[in-house]
Amino acid sequence: MRFDILTLFPNTIQNACNFSIIKRALNENKIQINTVNPRDYTIDKHKKVDDTPYGGGAGMLLSCQPYLDALKSIEKKENSSVLLLSPKGKIFNQNLAKEFAKKEQLIIICGHYEGFDERIKIKSEAEEISIGDFVLTGGEFPALCIIDSITRLLKGVLGDDESAEYDSFFDGLLEHPHYTKPRKYEDLEVPEILLSGNHEKIKEWRRLQQFIVTKNKRPDLFEKFLKTELCKLDKRILKENNLF
Ligand code: SAM
Repeated sequence: MRFDILTLFPNTIQNACNFSIIKRALNENKIQINTVNPRDYTIDKHKKVDDTPYGGGAGMLLSCQPYLDALKSIEKKENSSVLLLSPKGKIFNQNLAKEFAKKEQLIIICGHYEGFDERIKIKSEAEEISIGDFVLTGGEFPALCIIDSITRLLKGVLGDDESAEYDSFFDGLLEHPHYTKPRKYEDLEVPEILLSGNHEKIKEWRRLQQFIVTKNKRPDLFEKFLKTELCKLDKRILKENNLF
C-alpha cells in the first residue's frame, strides 16, 4: 500500500514513521510513504502557499494552485482514494480504516493555518475526513493516525501474537482486560480463571468481559452490537449474564 501525503511539513510525517511497527512495515516494503510538499509547486516568486481570506477574517488560507498542482504530480493507481483532512469531515473509525486498507493507494491532503480554499476540496474531489471533534493546528497528526491504523491491518504487518483481530472495535466491541506478571501486584491479583489453563473457560470469560466493558464504557457500541447477527456462544453468554 502506498500513502502519498501532501504536507508543508514532510519531516513530521517522515520522522514519526521511523519507529516500531511502521518502520518495520516500511523496511519490509509492506507500505510506502511518499511526501509531497505543495511549496515545491507554488508559482509564487516568494514561495507563498497561502493568502488572506476574501471577505476578511482571521488567519491564512491554503491556496488552490500549489495544492492542486502538487496533487496532479502524484501518479494515481487504479484503486486509490483522495482524503482531505478537516474537522468538518466524516469521522474516521475502525470501519473506515478497514475500508481504506483494501486500497492500493491513499492520497492524503494535510491542511494548516485556517484551512483550505474551498475550491481545493471541490477540484480534488477528495473525501473530507476528520479524526474527531476537536481542532488541531495541522493535518499531519491526523494523517499519521490514519497511516498507523491502516498499516497495522495490512497482511503480514503484525505478527500472530499481535493480531489486530483481538483489538477493540474489530468486531464492534471493546477489548477485554489483560494481565501480565506478577500474579499479585500490591493488593491486586490476576483473576483466577486466567491461571486455570482452561482455554475454553478463558475464552468465555474474555468474551463476557468484552460485553461488560463495552456496555459500561460505550453503550452506543453495545446497542449496535446486539443488533448484529450473534453467534450461538455470544447469545448464551449474554443470556446467562442478563445482558441480552
Ligand atoms: N478553520 C478550520 C475549521 O474551523 O474547520 C480548522 C483549520 S485547522 C487549524 C488546520 C488544519 O488542521 C485543517 O485544515 C486540517 O487539515 C487539520 N485538522 C485540524 N483538526 C483536524 C481534525 N479534527 N481532523 C482532521 N484534520 C484536522
